Amino acid sequence: MPKHMDIAAPLLPRPASVAKFLDGQHRLLIGDDWVAAASGETLDTLDPADGTTLASVASAGAEDVDRAVQAARRAFESGPWPSMPPNERARLIWRLADLIEANADEIALLESLDNGKPVGDARHFDLPHAIELFRYYAGWATKLNGESIALSNPGTWHAYTLREPVGVVGQIVPWNAPFMIAASKLAPALAAGCTMILKPAEQTPLTALRLGQLVQEAGFPPGVVNILTGYGKTAGAAMAAHPGIDKITFTGSTATGREIVHASTSNFKRVTLELGGKTPVIIFPDADMEKAIAGAARAIFSNTGQICNAGSRLYTHPDVFDQVIEGVADIARNIRLGRGTDPQTQMGPVISSQQLDRITGYIETGQQQGATLLSGGGRPSGSGYFVEPTILTDTTHKMDVVREEIFGPVLCAMKFDPEEIDRISAEANQSDFGLGAVIWTRDIGVAHGLARKLKAGTVRVNGGGLDPALPFGGFKASGWGRESGREGIEAYTEVKSVAVNY
Ligand code: NAD
Repeated sequence: MPKHMDIAAPLLPRPASVAKFLDGQHRLLIGDDWVAAASGETLDTLDPADGTTLASVASAGAEDVDRAVQAARRAFESGPWPSMPPNERARLIWRLADLIEANADEIALLESLDNGKPVGDARHFDLPHAIELFRYYAGWATKLNGESIALSNPGTWHAYTLREPVGVVGQIVPWNAPFMIAASKLAPALAAGCTMILKPAEQTPLTALRLGQLVQEAGFPPGVVNILTGYGKTAGAAMAAHPGIDKITFTGSTATGREIVHASTSNFKRVTLELGGKTPVIIFPDADMEKAIAGAARAIFSNTGQICNAGSRLYTHPDVFDQVIEGVADIARNIRLGRGTDPQTQMGPVISSQQLDRITGYIETGQQQGATLLSGGGRPSGSGYFVEPTILTDTTHKMDVVREEIFGPVLCAMKFDPEEIDRISAEANQSDFGLGAVIWTRDIGVAHGLARKLKAGTVRVNGGGLDPALPFGGFKASGWGRESGREGIEAYTEVKSVAVNY
């Protein structure tokens, strides 16, 4: 039996702190209080490894959104946060990072239970990156400068710009990396002096609630961070439309991004969108093949392919196509599927039965449209939402599997036309999305030349990964604006120009 068919991993004992958290009451953080939803409604969050209920959390509606907006508005207009000296804000953000670090094992386990991802991935990737984001932006709190402006006709005028916090921010987060993405929104918004309402995805609310507890423990003033668990169509939609919210920052699907843009026009909110992707991975014959093959497999199978930047389109030089495909397939066949909390697990389940049906539907459609199933494609038996790491060959740009975001562990492998660099970039750019691109080559001319031509917000050569200082975001239907880096914090500010006649 292949390793990934063996998913009958037993339910593992949970540490007391995690069991206690799961048994607790999961309410909304509004101002300084944990309160039930005004409607009294709750929603269940499930363990994707077996479909059982992990916990019930409050399900916020429009009335709760309104209460949270009022709390955030009070904290912004009359609370101490925006007017607090930046170095004090920085110290509080750093304290929050320290608290997250001290509780990282527990948070990683909660994330693994709620999302299904391997606990080691949560502990050694999601959590460190989240902590680093808070520390990086703590440093920015004291460095948000305006500029002195050289006027074209100064006369007796002196002019400069100020950067001011944009105000009350609504932050809507998806389920694939809940804690890390929450951190990528909270950290710069806090450093800029904004107040906020964070809404995690209905599928994965738990670590946002734990984060809310740590925000209180760190000592942030009431109302600076409010946390609403709830459905997108109710709580999320009410946030997007609320006239008291100055900016929405959203990570999720392109379809929802479009709805948010429409809703946000009521008061012309500032909007940042981190949406879907269909990242090309391009392998040249001069690359370090061992690293390129491992990198290509990691790019699509990490987090069970549920990464906006997943390397879902593989373009290989014809001379090394067979070697690359066989290498990636060999890795795929040996990936151990299982419960995320089992330390032996290399790939967890997908998030829900709907996602599982969607992914396997794409695999079937791909074959109906002419693709060849090289490996995987199956749904291991059992009650969890598992799908095998899958590779499709003979794929073309006419197929849904190549054009659309699958958001699962499905790789479409193609040969590229090696004649000239323009043709390679034209093929890779043949997508509505433009989030990322990965190149494997030792030729620096090819690397820099192609990096220029690719229509993608992030290009990585001979590797992958994130850094808090590197702007992240997409061209085309992959979004608006950037998170991380200078751009990430400036997106939480308004620019005011001041001119003084002396
Ligand atoms: P989704 O759009 O269904 O949901 C994301 C969030 O939006 C959830 O919190 C949800 O409750 C909320 N939401 C849903 N409908 C809403 C509405 N009408 N108004 C306001 N909020 C609403 O996306 P998903 O399925 O949870 O996440 C997967 C998608 O996210 C993929 O397309 C993926 O590419 C994208 N994603 C992008 C990035 C990035 O940085 N570019 C990162 C992670 C995920």
